[in-house]
Amino acid sequence: MERWNTTKSAELYGVPEWSGGYFTIADSGEMMVLPAAGETGRAVSISQIAKGVKERGLDMPVLLRVENILDAQIATLNETFRQAMDELGYQGSFLGAYPIKVNQQQQVVEQITHFGSRYHHGLEAGSKAELIAAMGTMRDRKSVLICNGYKDEEFIDLGLYATKIGFTCILVVEMPDELPLILERSKELGAKPILGIRIKLASQASGHWAESGGDRSIFGLNTNQVIKAVDLLAQEGMLDCLQMVHYHLGSQISNIREIRSAVHEACQVYAGLAKEGAAVAYLDLGGGLAVDYDGSQSNFMSSRNYSINEYCTDIIEAVMTSLDEVGIQHPTIITESGRALVAYYSILLFNVLDVTRYRPDPLPEHLPDDCPAQINYMMETLEKLTIRNLQESFNDILFYRDEARHLFHHGKIDLRQRALAEQIFWTTITRISELSKELKHVTPELADLERVLSDIYYCNFSVFQSLPDAWAIGQLFPIMPIHRLNEEPTVNAVLADITCDCDGKIDQFIDRRGVRRFLPLHELKNSDEYLLGAFLVGAYQETLGDLHNLLGDTNVVTVRILDNGEFEFVNELEGDTVADVLSYVEYDPKRLFNSFRKTAERAVRAERITAQERKQIVQAYEAGLRGYTYFER
Ligand SMILES: *Cc1c(COP(=O)(O)O)cnc(C)c1O
Repeated sequence: MERWNTTKSAELYGVPEWSGGYFTIADSGEMMVLPAAGETGRAVSISQIAKGVKERGLDMPVLLRVENILDAQIATLNETFRQAMDELGYQGSFLGAYPIKVNQQQQVVEQITHFGSRYHHGLEAGSKAELIAAMGTMRDRKSVLICNGYKDEEFIDLGLYATKIGFTCILVVEMPDELPLILERSKELGAKPILGIRIKLASQASGHWAESGGDRSIFGLNTNQVIKAVDLLAQEGMLDCLQMVHYHLGSQISNIREIRSAVHEACQVYAGLAKEGAAVAYLDLGGGLAVDYDGSQSNFMSSRNYSINEYCTDIIEAVMTSLDEVGIQHPTIITESGRALVAYYSILLFNVLDVTRYRPDPLPEHLPDDCPAQINYMMETLEKLTIRNLQESFNDILFYRDEARHLFHHGKIDLRQRALAEQIFWTTITRISELSKELKHVTPELADLERVLSDIYYCNFSVFQSLPDAWAIGQLFPIMPIHRLNEEPTVNAVLADITCDCDGKIDQFIDRRGVRRFLPLHELKNSDEYLLGAFLVGAYQETLGDLHNLLGDTNVVTVRILDNGEFEFVNELEGDTVADVLSYVEYDPKRLFNSFRKTAERAVRAERITAQERKQIVQAYEAGLRGYTYFER
C-alpha cells in the first residue's frame, strides 16, 4: 500500500477548498496558518502556537485569533471592489461598514476600525448598545456609521449627536413610524439628519435567513410606505436628507443570482427616489456575502457558488446597467459584510479527552454449551457471511439480535448471554460494513453502517458555547486535527462535547459531495495530547453561545504573524471562571463559599472529618471556584 502523506490529508479534509488560502499542511504533518492568502513563506504552525499558549498557563479549549487574517480579509473586500470599479469604469466608490452584531467583542471591533482605516471602513449598529460601542470606537469621519434596527428617541438622539460632531451617521428608517420621530428630534436638537430608507424587496433569498428579505420580512418599508415617507419629507422641505437606499437580504446568501436580482430591484427604487427629488448618493446592500465553509463552491447552505471577485463584479455591473439606462449617477456602494470579514480569523482549539469504541472484542472460540438457539443462529449468520449475502445477513442478524433482547426482557437469557449476543451482533455488523466497501452499489442501510460503527471522541469544549450554529441551524464548520497529518487517520468518529446534553455533539461534517456523518481521525496515543481545530468560527459564534451546563467563555488568544515569519502574542483573555459563570446566573460566589465553609465546619463538629481535612476540602472548593469551567489537566 502507498504510504500516507500530507497531500492525502489535505484532500481528505478539503483544506485547499475551504481554507481561503489561509491554511495549509506542512510536511511535518502540522496545520499551518498563513498571514495572508497564499503567503506560505510566513506560515506558522498552529500546534506551535497551542504549545506557546499552554506554556503561558492557559488551558484548552482556546479560541485563537490570527489578526493578520482579519487585516487581509478587510483588504481583500475593499481592494476587490476598487479593482472591479476601475475595470468596469464605475464612477462612484465603495465603502464597507462592519455590522457589530457579527462579533461585538471590543477587541474585534477595535481591530476592524484599525485595519480598516486605510479604506475608511465604517461600522453598522443595529441597537443602542451597538451604536454606543461604535461612537466610542470610531474616529474616521470619512467612514460611514450606519444605524439600523428599531429606534427610540434615545437611539435617534445619539445618532443625531453623532452627525453633529461630524460623523457620517446615517439613520436608516426601518419602520414607518420612525420618520416623524426622527424629524421631530432633529428639529429639537437642531441637527440635520442623513437618512436612509430600508426597503422590502420582492426578490427572495433562500436559506436560513430568507425571511429577513422579501415581502414578508419584518424590517423595511414597502413601496407604498416609501412613497408616504417621500411625501412627508417633501412637505417638510427635507427631501435632501434622504441620501441612502438600504436593504439586507439575509446572511450567507449562497446563490449569486439572488444577490444580482436584489441589486437590480434596489436600483429601481434608487432611481425612483432620485426622480422624486431625493438627494440619494449611497446604495447599501447590507450583508449576505457568504463563506464557503465546506469548500464545495455550490449553492448549498454552508457554501457559496461565487467568488468574492464575482460578487463585486456582478454587483457593480448590475448597478451600472440599471442606472445608466435611466441616466442616474453611480452611487457610493456600501456593503455591510460581517461574516466574510471575521469568519476566517478565529479557530477553536480543543483537546480530545476520551474515546468510546464500537469495535467488538474478539469472540470466544467456542460458544458455551447451554447457549439459547438465537445465539447459535447469530453465530451461524456470522459464519456464513459472504459478499453475496450481505443484505440478507444484515436482516437476519438484526432479527436475531432483537429476539435475544426480547428473551432478556423476559428473563429467558441472562446478562452474560445477552452480552455475548451483542458481541456477535457487532462483530457481524463490522464485517458486513467492511465487505460492503468492496461492492459497487451499496444499499443506503449498509452504507450507513460506517456511521453506526464510528467511535465517539469526547472533546473538551461545549457546542452550545463555542459552535452554537452547529447545534441550532446545522451549520457545518471545517473540523480536523491540527497535527499528525502525515499519519493516516484510521478511525471514523463523531465528536461529543463535555456538556451532558445529548445534543452536545457534532456528527455532521463538511464534504464536497454533501454531508459526511463521521470524521476520520487518528488513534489516540497514550499520553500525547490530540488537538482538533474548528475553523472559520469568527462570525456569530461568540456571543450567540450560551452557558449550557455552566460551561463559560473559553480562553481567547490573539496572535500576530510578523514579517520574519515568527509570531507574537498580542492579547490573551482568560475565559470565565466557575465563580464568573455562577454569578451570571445570580449566585453570589462569596456567599456560596461561606455557606460551604459552615457545612464543612458542622462536619468537623460531628467528627465526620478532622479540622485538617476541612482545610483541605475548603481549599479545593475555593480553587474550584477560581478555576476554568472546562476540563483541566
Ligand atoms: C446581520 C446583518 C448584516 C451582516 O450580514 P453578513 O451576512 O454577516 O455579512 C448586515 N446588515 C444587517 C442589517 C444585518 O442585520
